[in-house]
Amino acid sequence: MKDFLVNLLPSFLVKFFARAYVSGVGIDCAIKKARKLWIKNKIASTIDMLGEEVTNAEDVEKIVQLYFDLINKLANEDFPKHISLKLTSLGVDIDKTYCINNLKRILEKAKQGEIFVTLDMENSNYTSVTLEIYKNLKKNYEFGTVLQTRLFRTKDDIIGLEGLQTRIRLCIGVYIEDESIAYNKKKDMKEKLVEYTTLLLENNHQVDIATHDHKYIIRALQEIEKRKVDPSQVEFQFLLGVPRVRIQKELIERGYLVRLYVPFTIEWKYAISYLRRRLIENPSMLYLGGLDFLGRIFQPLTKQRRRPILPPRK
Ligand SMILES: Cc1cc2nc3c(=O)[nH]c(=O)nc-3n(C[C@H](O)[C@H](O)[C@H](O)COP(=O)(O)OP(=O)(O)OC[C@H]3O[C@@H](n4cnc5c(N)ncnc54)[C@H](O)[C@@H]3O)c2cc1C
Repeated sequence: MKDFLVNLLPSFLVKFFARAYVSGVGIDCAIKKARKLWIKNKIASTIDMLGEEVTNAEDVEKIVQLYFDLINKLANEDFPKHISLKLTSLGVDIDKTYCINNLKRILEKAKQGEIFVTLDMENSNYTSVTLEIYKNLKKNYEFGTVLQTRLFRTKDDIIGLEGLQTRIRLCIGVYIEDESIAYNKKKDMKEKLVEYTTLLLENNHQVDIATHDHKYIIRALQEIEKRKVDPSQVEFQFLLGVPRVRIQKELIERGYLVRLYVPFTIEWKYAISYLRRRLIENPSMLYLGGLDFLGRIFQPLTKQRRRPILPPRK
């Protein structure tokens, strides 16, 4: 029902309510945003280009060249440089070897520019191929990927990373999956966020905890601090546009790196499917989008309370 209603919304309305979630049109918008976040707030970014389900080699090559441009431009910046990308945009649906070669071209170039790459995780049709490619290339390249706690298979996937020192972004997963392979209650997915954070850390992997849920950020943090994990082994990640300023500030003050997912688009139409997916998942974006708009006019509406969100360190 939610999907149906969101898909009925005209694109201009989706864009209006959700534009806070996309840095803008073109590479320069994303870099400008990332630079500003770092200089102003010491918040790092991972820059991603929106544009999925590419089906022909010509479009794939355009995307590879855009990532080359992004890497070239980022190489001159002095904030922490990360990019995220999707295998479907590198031609995995055309041919696996072709996709691997495209990914290698990007990883090589990123290595020269000292830019860290994360392979985003798409729907469950791509989980096996993404992990297979990741594990094969991880032997030669320092890069990361994503695991989704909603999938029943994820614990085995973590165990399957044995022997590799990986960097995993852990999130509940944005794609709606069949109940035969995934949890369908957010509470279950989020309990697994805490369990898998611990499991990954115990197996010496680096973990990027990607959730906006205060309760589970605190739960994960308590596990991290109980185990006396070095703050450099974890970071906390959020989507650009989701209002989490206070907790981000507190995490930074506590010594953790906070990173935002900063997407850009080459044309607004490519951003619309990303924004619709976010809207289906979080219809509150409509309300928050409206509040953001009003907030810019009536500042006091968005004033925040002062009590700390994170409990004191034990
Ligand atoms: C840095 C980063 C990278 C990600 N990469 C991937 C990926 O590669 N693959 C993948 O499948 N998923 C990815 N995700 C999405 C993720 O899986 C979740 O879908 C998303 O983070 C929402 O889940 P949550 O844990 O925040 O819980 P939720 O219960 O969805 O959110 C908790 C609270 O945060 C607020 N909130 C959350 N999202 C929004 C929003 N969009 N707008 C407004 N308020 C919001 C709401 O108040 C909500 O009540 C990524 C998320 C982040 C932060």
